[in-house]
Amino acid sequence: MKVLDLGCQHGHIFEGWFASEDDFQSQKERALVLCPMCGDASIAKRLSAPRLNLGAPASAARPAAEAASLPTPPQASRQAMQAAWLRMSRELIARTEDVGERFADEARRMHHGEIESRAIRGQASAQDAVALLEEGIGVLPLPLADGAKETLQ
Ligand SMILES: [Zn+2]
Repeated sequence: MKVLDLGCQHGHIFEGWFASEDDFQSQKERALVLCPMCGDASIAKRLSAPRLNLGAPASAARPAAEAASLPTPPQASRQAMQAAWLRMSRELIARTEDVGERFADEARRMHHGEIESRAIRGQASAQDAVALLEEGIGVLPLPLADGAKETLQ
């Protein structure tokens, strides 16, 4: 199937469907191709290539280019993520009490009601953390952003 852009002497433009370009030529010679608007039999083939090229607007090609660049986020968004992470770390530090090495002990004492519950942070070995979890004490390992601590103090 061949789709051709055709035009008559009066400037009417229309599409013609033919089995092949030869089919169009033979139909045209027998004056079987008529303009649907004025019936003119003087039909000329128009160049369809420019229409095909310009027919795909630039906006249609853009999403593909954007999708291709997704796996590697631009530097700006990486910086924004780091900034958000630093902000979150600072908030966490501001809202929790640093008990340092006593973290596991403090968490255990709070869990057993020996001391009042409060939000604490500190260092715990992997072994301590697993032991706390096994005792049913909630522990959230969080790598805090570098520099969050220093800037606060
Ligand atoms: Zn016409």
